[in-house]
Amino acid sequence: MSRNIEASCRQCRREGAKLYLKGERCYSTNKCAFERRPTPPGQHGKRRTKLSEYGLQLREKQKAKRIYGVLEKQFRGYFEIAEKQQGITGHNLLIRLESRLDNVVYRLGLASSRKEARQLVDHEHFLINGKKINIPSYILKEGDVIEVRPKSKKSQKFKDILEVTENRTVAPWLSKDVETLSGKVIGRPAVEDLDVEIAEHLIVELYSK
Ligand code: SF4
Repeated sequence: MSRNIEASCRQCRREGAKLYLKGERCYSTNKCAFERRPTPPGQHGKRRTKLSEYGLQLREKQKAKRIYGVLEKQFRGYFEIAEKQQGITGHNLLIRLESRLDNVVYRLGLASSRKEARQLVDHEHFLINGKKINIPSYILKEGDVIEVRPKSKKSQKFKDILEVTENRTVAPWLSKDVETLSGKVIGRPAVEDLDVEIAEHLIVELYSK
């Protein structure tokens, strides 16, 4: 399976925004590379160039793909589904990205980053409605219950994760039970509840050309 191998902090510097790709480090001003050096990577990084309309649209799409760890083909597929749904296409796209299993695990604080969430899902640490699911892109819906598998609950890994994420806010469309290491989708993700800023209209404009 192909994946983006560019160094995480470099991706933030490229997009000119914190993308929260590294977990705990991202929440520390001293440790975050973007906070220390918010210029684009490379020899000419400090030179500021004004982006064209197309450049702005392209960067916004790249930013969203990097945040959610989705490659072009799948991202385009999400856009095509979003376009066919009722409502605002850009909002539909963001709601779909938010509803991915790896994102839900992260937003429940059961992983320190979306990347870690993807690995944990891959390694079969979660049950969805009692069934083992190891597909990070699995789309959750209202009423679905996510639970750490019984044999994983006692692992040091999840103790460490809970320590790191204990002060993070759980997305308002999710509920979390720390005792049972489980969560539930109690509503529909809303664009205003995103933990990152994405100008989704620029992505829609780009794909609509
Ligand atoms: Fe981005 Fe900072 Fe996290 Fe590195 S530490 S991935 S620069 S937010």
